[in-house]
Amino acid sequence: MKELRFHGQAIVTGRGSVECLKNLPIGRAFIVTGGSSVVKNGMLAKIEGLLAAKGCQTLVYSGVPKNPPVETVVEGIARMREFAPDTVIGIGGGSAIDASKVMSVFYEHPGLDVAAAFRQAIPQKREKIKLIAIPGTSGTASEVTCFAVLTYRGEDLKVGGKSPAFVPDYAILDADMTLSMPKNVAAETGMDAMAHAVECYTNPALDDFTDAMAAGAIEGLFRHLPASVTTGEPGAREKVHNYQCLAGCAFANVGTGLDHGIAHAFGGKYDLGHGLVIAVALPYVLEFNSRDASVREKLARLAKRVDRGDFVAAIRELNTLLGIPASFKAWASAKPTSPPTSPSLSKTRSKARPESIPSPYRRTTCRLFCAPSTKAGAFNNKTQY
Ligand SMILES: [Zn+2]
Repeated sequence: MKELRFHGQAIVTGRGSVECLKNLPIGRAFIVTGGSSVVKNGMLAKIEGLLAAKGCQTLVYSGVPKNPPVETVVEGIARMREFAPDTVIGIGGGSAIDASKVMSVFYEHPGLDVAAAFRQAIPQKREKIKLIAIPGTSGTASEVTCFAVLTYRGEDLKVGGKSPAFVPDYAILDADMTLSMPKNVAAETGMDAMAHAVECYTNPALDDFTDAMAAGAIEGLFRHLPASVTTGEPGAREKVHNYQCLAGCAFANVGTGLDHGIAHAFGGKYDLGHGLVIAVALPYVLEFNSRDASVREKLARLAKRVDRGDFVAAIRELNTLLGIPASFKAWASAKPTSPPTSPSLSKTRSKARPESIPSPYRRTTCRLFCAPSTKAGAFNNKTQY
């Protein structure tokens, strides 16, 4: 027997779909967001305007960093207690949405020590706060998954937690949120979505439902990711935004694999962007896993589906097209001012190069933590984004 869960109350799609906020019963909204991109692209102002027009009170909690630390969540919950919201809205990348998920759940359980969030039984229900996720990048699918990741910086730990209460009630896939996404972010998050779908598809736990979803996501990403990255064409951005979510619906029920194991350990140690590590390692992981006959057979099926002779070669070609370095060696040896393959990758990557990593992050390690209330072994070989 297997129970499948694909999302919360609804997934709302289409450009301009943030307008649906007008129809949702929201009185006091606590908005959690990351950097300045949602300010610069005007989407935060648009969302605040929509809520204000219906008489909704809002408080914006911004600045959630990449690899969000538990302190950010603790502070956010304190702000929530002062504001007393009925709704939490996570806007932006996976880090902001993850933080909003943890805040909304632990806000309802004041007796629990938030600082030890994932070292105790994670609450399985969220009954008072409505949770809405509006992703601004196209890859993590945090808007539909039951996972959240926090960083314990004092202990150099990156910890994943899992609870049905982390699944947002509404996932709003408004591709207008993604139009200002830089090329390198579109490439890296897009390949993260590809890895979610491929690792799900090659996972032995695949079932009839997730088979169709993962394969459909792979086909769609192959078709639309190149234009989404190279031209930023809105139609392609919208397709990728939808297909990354479809990949998330699939892998949340099946799990991922070695590529994500590498990304958590390596990315955590050097404070590197998740999608870039995932993209670089993916072809190597697939080659390694191809020693298994069932994986070889599945990759052959995928190759036919995307009309290529060899699926791993097709992933390498796609990486090259998107400006992803061919190896960690190639990435590390590139000069900061002269990134490996694409001018658009320079800032993020040069900052993240291992040799320039600030010491507080160099020791960071990743550990996936299975909370006492989750099924034993729930995270065995099933890392999340
Ligand atoms: Zn991922």
